[in-house]
Amino acid sequence: MEEISIQQILEAVKGKRLNQAGDGTVLSVCTDSRKITPGCLFVPLKGERFDGHDYIERALERGASGTLCAQPPREIREDRFYIQVEDTRLALKDLASWYRGQFDIPVVQVTGSVGKTTTKEMVAATLSARYKVLKTPENFNNDIGTPLTLLSLERSHQAAVIETGMNHFGEIRYLGEMVRPDIAVISNIGDAHIEFLGSRQGILQAKCEIFDNLKQDGTAVLDGDDALLGTLELPFETLRCGKSERCNVRVSEILDNGVNGLICRVETGRDAYVLEIPAPGEHMVYSASMAVAIGEKLGLNREEIIRGVASYEPTGSRMRPVHLSGERTILDDCYNANPQSVAAALEILAKTGSGRKIAVLGDMGELGDLTDQAHYNMGALAAMLGIDQVFAIGQKAQKIADGVASSGGEVLYFPVKEAALPELERQFTEESTMLVKASHAMHFGDIVKQLANAF
Ligand code: ATP
Ligand code: MG
Repeated sequence: MEEISIQQILEAVKGKRLNQAGDGTVLSVCTDSRKITPGCLFVPLKGERFDGHDYIERALERGASGTLCAQPPREIREDRFYIQVEDTRLALKDLASWYRGQFDIPVVQVTGSVGKTTTKEMVAATLSARYKVLKTPENFNNDIGTPLTLLSLERSHQAAVIETGMNHFGEIRYLGEMVRPDIAVISNIGDAHIEFLGSRQGILQAKCEIFDNLKQDGTAVLDGDDALLGTLELPFETLRCGKSERCNVRVSEILDNGVNGLICRVETGRDAYVLEIPAPGEHMVYSASMAVAIGEKLGLNREEIIRGVASYEPTGSRMRPVHLSGERTILDDCYNANPQSVAAALEILAKTGSGRKIAVLGDMGELGDLTDQAHYNMGALAAMLGIDQVFAIGQKAQKIADGVASSGGEVLYFPVKEAALPELERQFTEESTMLVKASHAMHFGDIVKQLANAF
């Protein structure tokens, strides 16, 4: 972040000063009292279990130069400033919104049901071939992460790519009011959060809130193959990306589709590209063609676009190929798991894996009444896809094992991952491809680490 003054904060958040201390500037904004950096503004937030207001004193003790607060603290120090606001979460939004307005650079906002992070990373990688790019770190795409990302803009940044997520109506509008994009991307419309949004039409409507804050001369970038997005008519320049004829940024041919990634041809009105996408899974062509669309829009030349796409790196264990000795490959997809993403990952393993194909599958969380059936189906699917061997690990994964066995597949069951490790090492023979996937809570990253050490 660039330095801002207390006066600027006061005006942005429409707050009231509770003392006259600390006339300097603020160097950063922080909402976590454990991560205070000297000279920051502390913004206490009310969560489900904690109220940041209980940590104001600690934050100031650790070097915050001042704090926002919704009610005056019992004690006011005379060496720090205090600004009272009605609601600290809204104040964080107002501050980020004002701060974003200080930067006249192209801003890309990304939303969608799946593939937001993938698309954000791909677009940022591509634009980085020419510009210094700010991007949402990891998956910080909510009402806290988004303002904090915007508040980390610096004068040296030449473009920004911001991921925004939601599970209720109004959330994308709320985030868009801060982001105010020049380019708005919807990666696709799926079933995520349908519980709250009623129907796919509801999900479409919620995602389309992104256009409420798109600049008048801005550009919409959509998955042109998506049933609902493909035919959406908007009062903005619209770039449709995908394989179908209606796409104006069109993936015309997939030349190679392997465990390390894809090679595809993309044609636009302006140029044609042969892209190397360094991550497996055919869905990657959507993120890549969107990156081409945005790259062209923001003035990158052909060489920069090709180099930018090729520099993409899968983040945080999302279908990350890990090559080990003896032509062993791990597909590290430990980031998370739900029925759709496990099915997609199994298909990638079946289609692109070389040698013996092993799937190490663990519990999937948050499935309620569907839990048993979903795990069973995963196992059955693995067997039907011809995966050579399945490791089912965890309490719920017993049903995965049942599913594999029911379809005539080979399966080994272990209640906990520690018990499975010796056998995993034994079975991970030369020339094998091993998919490792489970819900985040299973910490299957430990398995990847252990095997990477062993081979
Ligand atoms: P979150 O809601 O957790 O932020 P997200 O929308 O950011 O999710 P990603 O993290 O990019 O989604 O991807 C989640 C999973 O879906 C990954 O395993 C990825 O490989 C897969 N995926 C990414 N893009 C697509 C796509 N267009 N279609 C289907 N699957 C995809
Ligand atoms: Mg994400």
